[in-house]
Amino acid sequence: MYKKVLILVVIIVMVFSGCSNSAKTSGDASNQQSEVKTIKIAYLPITHALPLYIENELANIDSKNFKLELVKFGSWPELAEALNAGKVDGASMLIELAVKAKEKGIDLKAVALGHRDGNVVVVSEDINSAADLKGKSFAIPSKLSTHNLLLHIMLKNSGLSYSDVNIVELPPPEMPAALSEGRISGYCVAEPFGAQSVAAGKGKTLFESHELWEGSLCCGLVLRNDFIQNNQAVAEAFIKEYVNAGLKAEQKDEEVKSITSKYLKAESKVLDLSLQWISYENLRLEEEEYNALAKYMVEAELSENPPKYSDFVDNSLIDRVK
Ligand code: ZN
Repeated sequence: MYKKVLILVVIIVMVFSGCSNSAKTSGDASNQQSEVKTIKIAYLPITHALPLYIENELANIDSKNFKLELVKFGSWPELAEALNAGKVDGASMLIELAVKAKEKGIDLKAVALGHRDGNVVVVSEDINSAADLKGKSFAIPSKLSTHNLLLHIMLKNSGLSYSDVNIVELPPPEMPAALSEGRISGYCVAEPFGAQSVAAGKGKTLFESHELWEGSLCCGLVLRNDFIQNNQAVAEAFIKEYVNAGLKAEQKDEEVKSITSKYLKAESKVLDLSLQWISYENLRLEEEEYNALAKYMVEAELSENPPKYSDFVDNSLIDRVK
């Protein structure tokens, strides 16, 4: 009799504590509170994803309700495919790729920026203005990129169009060599590949991105909407730490550089130069700047019908960060 009552009590406790839903818990309700959810975020080894590297390093120190797992990719198309297929929960990625995925019906939300500005137009010694690029080859990593939009703006400002230059898509690590060997006359790409040429004296900066597009967007932190909906508390905690990591990144101190060097290979003078160009301040994506991005994407024929700001951007997480 005593045994039956005990079993009944145990069953009632299990049902009310909800632990019958969880295979991991052992019957103690407090275990559920401490269950750690893994959040998988895709990235490319560039300085533009620096807040993620810092969050990952600091998250190893503090106890959290989530575990961050950074998943490294070698190219944007591979990263986008994994995100779109749900193999990762989110990514730090070119915002144009995310806009396009959303336009195609993948339910993604931009929850923060990766950075602001931080790109340069690098050219060979004989190029002194955008007009000098007429008839020359110019490299970008992908049509769906801020680098392509910066090229579009630079040409437009000089009364030129895409047809005036020979645009080639190259993998970013190949661009410095292509410039120094004279195969291209200029390029625009994520860092540290621009700084590599400039620091080595093999190229010069024709424009910094803010001179072409003030506060230009480039990489966004994107999460799958199903992940946000099913893991609100985890998503909130992840973004809180991400914002803190952005503030730390902006200090650009020795600790930041040492963390960065764990994730990407760059000589210290290359990294120093890259960090001079980029900003990790205020990573909230504002409506006005999204609309500027959407306008440029339509102008450059990258998108016919960009998603509305309210459909694509979810600031509810970043707005809860105190
Ligand atoms: Zn970027």
